[in-house]
Amino acid sequence: MRVLVSGAAGFVGSHMCDRLLKEGHTVVALDNFLTGLPQNVAHLARNKRFTFREQDVTERFEVDGPFDAVMHMASPASPRDYLECPIETLDVGSMGTKHMIEAALTNEAVFLLTSTSECYGDPHVHPQVETYWGNVNPVGPRSCYDESKRFAEAYTMAYHRKYGLRTRIARIFNTYGPRMKLNDGRVVPAFLDQALRGEPITVFGDGSQTRSFCYVSDLVDGLYRLLHSDEVYPVNLGNPTEMTIRQFAEAIRDRIGSKSAIIYEPLPEDDPKQRKPDITKARTLLGWEPKVTLEDGIEKTIEYFRGAVPITA
Ligand code: UDP
Repeated sequence: MRVLVSGAAGFVGSHMCDRLLKEGHTVVALDNFLTGLPQNVAHLARNKRFTFREQDVTERFEVDGPFDAVMHMASPASPRDYLECPIETLDVGSMGTKHMIEAALTNEAVFLLTSTSECYGDPHVHPQVETYWGNVNPVGPRSCYDESKRFAEAYTMAYHRKYGLRTRIARIFNTYGPRMKLNDGRVVPAFLDQALRGEPITVFGDGSQTRSFCYVSDLVDGLYRLLHSDEVYPVNLGNPTEMTIRQFAEAIRDRIGSKSAIIYEPLPEDDPKQRKPDITKARTLLGWEPKVTLEDGIEKTIEYFRGAVPITA
């Protein structure tokens, strides 16, 4: 396949490019480095099946086809990033999605959108199933991300209904692994960084809110399978092993053998209280489920961060 990927220098996007190339496909990669990093794709520079172009997909662009698949993976994704760049986040979900869909339609390519569990907001249904419509504050601080992705899903389905766009929509739950940015504010890099430095681990709220963490190679495998399926509607991709943030802080501290204290800071506004994917659909349709344990995944992530963190503790 020849695949167009936006957000290719991002955390998940760059791992997706690696997987596509490993499977023998050709990748045309786009990124404007708003939150992605050149170093995430630097190792691909000499690969003849990989072409990189610095491109903001919220602006109109021409790109030479043909393409068999178009993957729209560009967006700020950490709460810190999208709170700093709310307009860019809304633009990439709206205009960026439109431009990537147009590239797919022109090339009669499959269109895959990386959406998010944030579509469910602070959910009243637990675990979250794809048929749940969510509980999102449309004017809260997180709305720039949540509504952008919900709009992107709506846009994708409108093009499907009106023009027969072949759609794949992944609702991605919390994912972690190498190439996350240490300072992106998300809980995995934040806790690892703090524990490795021996600084206090900052739990927001009382730490009773839950999340479930999926290692990036598992997620990418799910995306790859979804791309090759014929499922038009959203599919949850995430790890269903749920834990409280307090438990997660303790697990990280114990694993690193750090003396870090656990301290409590105010819970950000609209922070979802619980989150866990129901992955029955992915299991049934894609034969997919996560394989990497939290212990193994954290180990690999620590190895990556040890290269990036000056250890003073
Ligand atoms: N969190 C925390 N301390 C931090 C960063 C995050 O307690 O230093 C909490 C955050 O409030 C949320 C959870 O960890 O409940 C996951 O946050 P993250 O930003 O990774 O992603 P989210 O799931 O909120 O999109």
